[in-house]
Amino acid sequence: MDRIFLSPPDVGPTERELLLDAFDSNWIAPVGAHLDAFEREAAAVCGVPHAAALSSGTAALHLALLLLGVGPGDTVVVPTLTFVASANAVGYVGAEPVFVDADAASWCLDPDLLAEELAERAGAGRPVKAVITVDLYGQCADYTRIEPLCREYGAVLIEDAAEAIGASWAGRPAGSFGAAAVLSFNGNKLLTTSGGGMLLSADRDLVTHARKLATQAREDVVHYEHTEVGFNYRLSNLLAALGRGQLRGLDAKLAARATINRRYREAFAGVDGVDFLPDAPGGEPNHWLTVATFDPERCGSDRTAIMAALDARSIEARPAWKPMHQQPLYGGASHRGGAVADRIFATGLCLPSGSSLRPDEQDRVVETVLATLGA
Ligand SMILES: *Cc1c(COP(=O)(O)O)cnc(C)c1O
Repeated sequence: MDRIFLSPPDVGPTERELLLDAFDSNWIAPVGAHLDAFEREAAAVCGVPHAAALSSGTAALHLALLLLGVGPGDTVVVPTLTFVASANAVGYVGAEPVFVDADAASWCLDPDLLAEELAERAGAGRPVKAVITVDLYGQCADYTRIEPLCREYGAVLIEDAAEAIGASWAGRPAGSFGAAAVLSFNGNKLLTTSGGGMLLSADRDLVTHARKLATQAREDVVHYEHTEVGFNYRLSNLLAALGRGQLRGLDAKLAARATINRRYREAFAGVDGVDFLPDAPGGEPNHWLTVATFDPERCGSDRTAIMAALDARSIEARPAWKPMHQQPLYGGASHRGGAVADRIFATGLCLPSGSSLRPDEQDRVVETVLATLGA
């Protein structure tokens, strides 16, 4: 039985052709025509004028925080329900994350708790420096409420849209919110360059500076001149070519993931105790991963047993993100709430959702889950 993966890369002849074009041009370096074009094309998809292609989404988060002036002694709000990279980047610049719970209606940062956190810290004379929102599993956070809150309290907004290319909120694309936004093209994301990321911003100077910092902060002179500490964070021209091919297939991949999501919802619609990541009104998700929750009290099994049953039939599934406030790494960090994220972690399971998943493969997933539930 072929193993069914959670979200494997989905590449085709277009990617192959572009990759070989980059190869044959001998621009096998973190510079070249495909890199420039990939930046332009990704920026256009996100409705943002400027973009810097980087080696990872994590690198993009690091540079965003640095360039927006976040540093030692600063506090940064991070949703507790996220991948660890969102929080780690805060530590890279010497700042401290404070974790805020998810909203049950969207699983993204809870705007009410964010308002409490911003008000309390402002009242204590130690205002929050920045807020990182995460568009979780490809669903945008509630920017209608979060943007004005950040403005009111003078906190810089950074959008971690690593999981969300192609999604939107109130008609605006993911990647267009905040002072800077971040995309990831890691191997399991909706679009992939095997590894890669993008920093997006309306601020041309910020993006130009990001490109410089990403190439060892080399000054624009013939010899090697440096006035600040840089990094080796630039994306390869080869991978940018691959990324351009992926962007051309974005609409088809969005449609495929939406279909997969709908089929799971239909298949489990009548089963008591099985629910899904809710679609928040106001947003259009990209359905990166379909996440189901299994309430052991009502559905007769739990996500651990279901995951084991799936694995026995060679199907990869993963628990929902383990909240940051539960991570040993962040045991000393402060957090506001956390019960919603804890519940999602305890019951949530990410199901195979790749855009190349075939209907017969999805049937195997569904049948296995239903058999485990005795439904
Ligand atoms: C994948 C991911 C990242 C990190 O992106 P990389 O390209 O893997 O470095 C950051 N934040 C979130 C929410 C992610 O899912």
